[in-house]
Amino acid sequence: MVKNVLKILGILILIFIIILVVKAVTISPKQVEVREAFPYKIDTMSVAQHLSEAIQIQTVSNQETSKTDVKQFEQFHKFLAKTYPLLHKKLKKEVVAGYALLYTWKGSDPSLKPMLLMAHQDVVPVEDLTKGEWKYPGFSGTIADGYIWGRGSLDIKNQLISIMEAVEFLINKGFVPKRTIYLAFGHDEEVGGQGAKAIAKLLKQRDVQLEYVLDEGGAIMEGMLPGVESPIALVGIAEKGYLTVKLTVKGQGGHSSMPPHHTALGILAQALVNVEKNPFPKNFDSPARQMFEYVAPHMKFPLRILFANMWCFKPLLKWQFEKSESTNAMIRTTAAVTMAGASEKENVLPTQAWAMINCRILPGETMDSTIAYLKKVIGNDAVAIEATPWSNDPSPVSDIQAGSFTSIVTIARQINPDVITAPYLVLGATDSRHYNALTNQIYRFSPVKMNAEDLKRMHGINERISISDMGKSVKFFIALIEKTHM
Ligand SMILES: [Zn+2]
Repeated sequence: MVKNVLKILGILILIFIIILVVKAVTISPKQVEVREAFPYKIDTMSVAQHLSEAIQIQTVSNQETSKTDVKQFEQFHKFLAKTYPLLHKKLKKEVVAGYALLYTWKGSDPSLKPMLLMAHQDVVPVEDLTKGEWKYPGFSGTIADGYIWGRGSLDIKNQLISIMEAVEFLINKGFVPKRTIYLAFGHDEEVGGQGAKAIAKLLKQRDVQLEYVLDEGGAIMEGMLPGVESPIALVGIAEKGYLTVKLTVKGQGGHSSMPPHHTALGILAQALVNVEKNPFPKNFDSPARQMFEYVAPHMKFPLRILFANMWCFKPLLKWQFEKSESTNAMIRTTAAVTMAGASEKENVLPTQAWAMINCRILPGETMDSTIAYLKKVIGNDAVAIEATPWSNDPSPVSDIQAGSFTSIVTIARQINPDVITAPYLVLGATDSRHYNALTNQIYRFSPVKMNAEDLKRMHGINERISISDMGKSVKFFIALIEKTHM
């Protein structure tokens, strides 16, 4: 009897394993086939030279607007006008909210909704402390070793210059877009994005509805996932929401020689411990899952068995994802306790203790649901919770079946035949969040190859882009604009 049961069990397990392996072997790739090669030759050195000049203009934005050196932005506008004369002749240029730029290239078919290409003019500073660690000075725009070096070369003057180069190139060829194309370049993305917000508001006032928006946010990542050899062009289809909450606990104050059992700070500390001990629920059915559906067919065994059978291994994958900070952030709302304060003297009881928690909200959840969850896990009415300004809900999730998504991934592979593409959840916030009211399709992608080390260069030391990548980036935007009929 026992023998028979074991036999049947053995057969069932074998069948189960066969099903898993068959699924992993037969899982069909979701990559688009690209047949045509990119048809034009690009003068890559001239492109590199233009990016170098753009980097040398120090368009650093400052949280305190009055401290921003606006002359740099004026100079940047002059540089663009001088470098891209055909564009400035053909497109309508508007300066919005001080220094943000909106260009309009009228399409031949007014029945088609316009598309909007984004970047930002501003960069973060080169910190005095790190100046000596740069191989070439941070604002030199040095062209050396096959790279263009300097602040903004990856974030994100590379994109801005690529878009300008592409438009100039196509006008020179006599190309007329079918759809109207907007180019929208904010001047303060790094400090809040009021420029992008103002442009979006202006377009809304004009009743503009967009086919799609393309902003920074994803890139072609190398060595990002274990078991995947190809670089992955990650096209952001959503971004997490941003919410900082302030917790406040009132105390009685007084001398610390006769303290209560719990001071305001002690109560607050318990609240923070509760938040860290009770992370937000994991949700694998987010854009993370869509990403792995694209990537799984290109994974090596045995990993492919796991990712090709997510229906079965979801709990295991969730558990595995939770272990690393970067993958954990993909599958849940995160809460980081970042600031705190209480009494200003060691022998005085605090009359108030406060702390800041910065939350990044997973699409599908909201600021309200995030605050409700925090209230629940803190479980103490003595702890007041309020949202601070500059917070926003997560973006909607853009459609990966849309023609615009197909155009982007097709061209990414046309220009870089060695890459695979995948939809992606952007963990940070981009300027594109201001456009949610104008379109359902917002994508975030820069056609630049990056590895873990390059990610540190953004906002860090030795920011650089390879000359070859810069050329490919221009090609990407030429091909994308040529596809405006799609
Ligand atoms: Zn940026």
